[in-house]
Amino acid sequence: MKEKQALLAVSFGTSYPDTLEKTIQAIETDLGAAFPERILRRFPHQLSGGQRQRVLIALALAGSPQTVIADEPTSALDVTVQREVLDLLCGRVTVDGSSLLLITHDIAIALERASHVIVLRDGEVLEAGAPAELGRTPYTRMLLDASTGAGDPPSPAEDGRVLLHGLGLTKRYGRGRSQVRALDDVSFTLHTGETLGIVGSSGSGKTTLARSVLRLVDTDAGTLESGGTDVLAHRGRALRDYRRRIQPVFQNPYASLDPTYTVGRTLAEALRLSGEVASSGDVSARIAQGLEDVGLPVAVTDRLPRELSGGQQQRVAIARSLAFSPEVLVLDEAVSALDVIVRARILALLAELQRERGLAYLFVSHDLSVVRRICHRVMVVHEGRIVEEGPTPEVFADPQHPRTQELIAAIPQQHRTAQKEPE
Ligand code: ADP
Ligand code: MG
Repeated sequence: MKEKQALLAVSFGTSYPDTLEKTIQAIETDLGAAFPERILRRFPHQLSGGQRQRVLIALALAGSPQTVIADEPTSALDVTVQREVLDLLCGRVTVDGSSLLLITHDIAIALERASHVIVLRDGEVLEAGAPAELGRTPYTRMLLDASTGAGDPPSPAEDGRVLLHGLGLTKRYGRGRSQVRALDDVSFTLHTGETLGIVGSSGSGKTTLARSVLRLVDTDAGTLESGGTDVLAHRGRALRDYRRRIQPVFQNPYASLDPTYTVGRTLAEALRLSGEVASSGDVSARIAQGLEDVGLPVAVTDRLPRELSGGQQQRVAIARSLAFSPEVLVLDEAVSALDVIVRARILALLAELQRERGLAYLFVSHDLSVVRRICHRVMVVHEGRIVEEGPTPEVFADPQHPRTQELIAAIPQQHRTAQKEPE
């Protein structure tokens, strides 16, 4: 709501565009072929997260502003779209002679795009200067390592039992000319103890696949086998049982938690729904254990979601899902909204939970540097189809499909920075 008001204030404050039609024209000109007309006729809920963000960025640029303040403008976008949008933003700034204040948690982007960079920590300037002068403090170096996904991909999971087997999953939205094939004959297998990465640019169908597996979207064709039955046919009790075993973790933890529930109440309700706890004394013990499992202090029990940081909120969302003792977590961009340090910690938590419990993850992400670090296998989707799949190290070492090559090429590279100061 706050964002919407801010956006309206900014839009009305500019003299151009003065009509909706002009705005639309400006958006079309700005985003060109990447932004087909049919998208302009859609409602926000019919767009992927990446498409929505591009609309907002286009609106901000439509009035030819002198200064653009971009606060994490591309954090929710996939790497290829991120590159396009940053090219657009930075290109406009150069042409118009206007300035860009780019706020980002991803230091690789700042180094790649900015002429002057300020590193803030706890409200204070830690380092400032041209990109080549940066990297003197251990904190900045840690930011650099975290954002470029340094480290090796995990070795293949030990042969696990098949938990889920999707076959020919297909989903179309809309009818006639405006029909979108969000999923087109997608097949996959997920084993116990395994992390399967689903990668692709925005609008490629990743969320539709995740939501189909969660039974939040009804597919048009295909089967999803688990334990010898097609779970897409499940109704009533069988569906409830399936949903307990397959739990979601979404991108925005705040939106997925009830803002009026304390952390304790959220977890108590999940435990009650899971049917696994008998007495109320048992519930508080389980809440304390659940919080400990995700690295949160018991003191957060009485807090509301808004009283927690984004990373803590995501830990609560994970604890809520774990309350059901699931076999699978479907993580849709679950770490994309977190800054690089918090992200690294949540990824470490997920890896630990997987080791301890043999959990399987369907890990949906547009961010290949994250996928590289956590996934045993990856599948690349493009326009609803799987265009490449294989063990993560192999796909990254020798990508076959042009889309995969593009996605890998778009990972921000670690830039040359100043050497560490002698101690
Ligand atoms: P991703 O998660 O990879 O960004 P999505 O699965 O969200 O992609 O979207 C895939 C395609 O389906 C996109 O073209 C998107 O615009 C379209 N789409 C998603 N949800 C809807 C919907 N409810 N109605 C119409 N089109 C949709
Ligand atoms: Mg998505």
